[in-house]
Amino acid sequence: MIEMNSILVVLSVQDGRIKRSSFEALSRAVAVGGQHGLTVNAVILHSNASKLAAEASKYGASKIFCFEDRVFDSHLNAPLLAGLETAIEKIQPRLVVAASMESIKDVWGALAIRVDAAVLPDVASFDVNGDAVVCERPVMAAKVMAAVSSSHPRVLVSVRSGSYEATESGGESSIETVPFEMSSQTLSATLKEIVTTTGDQVDLSEAKVVVAAGRGVKDASGKALVDELASILGAAIGASRAVVETGLFPATAQIGQTGKVVSPELYFAIGISGAIQHVAGMSNSKIIVAINKDADAPIFDVATYGLVGDCFKILPLLNAELRKALS
Ligand SMILES: Cc1cc2nc3c(=O)[nH]c(=O)nc-3n(C[C@H](O)[C@H](O)[C@H](O)COP(=O)(O)OP(=O)(O)OC[C@H]3O[C@@H](n4cnc5c(N)ncnc54)[C@H](O)[C@@H]3O)c2cc1C
Repeated sequence: MIEMNSILVVLSVQDGRIKRSSFEALSRAVAVGGQHGLTVNAVILHSNASKLAAEASKYGASKIFCFEDRVFDSHLNAPLLAGLETAIEKIQPRLVVAASMESIKDVWGALAIRVDAAVLPDVASFDVNGDAVVCERPVMAAKVMAAVSSSHPRVLVSVRSGSYEATESGGESSIETVPFEMSSQTLSATLKEIVTTTGDQVDLSEAKVVVAAGRGVKDASGKALVDELASILGAAIGASRAVVETGLFPATAQIGQTGKVVSPELYFAIGISGAIQHVAGMSNSKIIVAINKDADAPIFDVATYGLVGDCFKILPLLNAELRKALS
């Protein structure tokens, strides 16, 4: 029987750390739980889960369940699915929340079948209203917010990064290690290698600062100025589709409807016009600084600060001033 009194938050691990977007989802769950009298628990599936739980403890979950097995570090769907299914069967939550990311997108549908749940994927907000879980979901390149809800007894929700602040609650979670074993022999797929496309650069989806370039950056000399700004700020580098198509930036840097969705504290849009398909991937950024020589460019409609001018003149000055200020 499903108990109607708890929320379970899946804390995803990447490069040995819990993702910021998972803490955002947990913070929101704690707020919703507080308002509606729902216990909030969390689960970590990783070989180092109990150490990571100590860090996660300050975000307000009542209990953190640790499924500690090396098989979870393989980034394969089968162990993640099996682990989450076991966790849900054990904890019996009403609502399961995770940060929206590729690994979750891969398993959410299959998990829903296994644990008899409805799925509300990729939402920008979630709440509980009586029997229903109610969410807002950006659709049509984030031009429209769809109100979606489900009264199914169990609902899986994935939340877009940047939708909520990650806030420490001041409390401390209890931690329970759950025995879990899944032999890698039973897996039909094995992971041979992880090829990181970003090298030493900062991961776009988790970055606090993103410097993004568009067609106005034109060529390698413009790209060098953008790279310099990113390096001064310790920022990740993004791009519009226009400069990905010309080959100036790699496809992995593309931000937008058919690229990555980012939600940094600070987003620089340099020589980017602000087409709706681009804005769909960055409008959740907290502060947007646009540099564009066309004062009527639509990017200025979403920008917090706008610099109208030639990026080839502005960037060398900005880079020099930032170097001075930050040294
Ligand atoms: C189905 C579909 C999906 C798409 N998905 C995406 C997506 O995921 N991401 C994406 O980005 N696009 C996407 N696009 C493309 C999108 O519509 C735009 O064509 C693209 O975003 C434009 O890129 P841009 O702003 O770099 O170039 P442009 O629109 O050409 O804008 C260049 C800007 O640079 C400015 N500029 C020029 N020179 C300078 C200078 N020296 N200094 C300062 N400013 C200067 C210009 O004033 C202009 O505003 C998609 C399109 C479709 C149809």
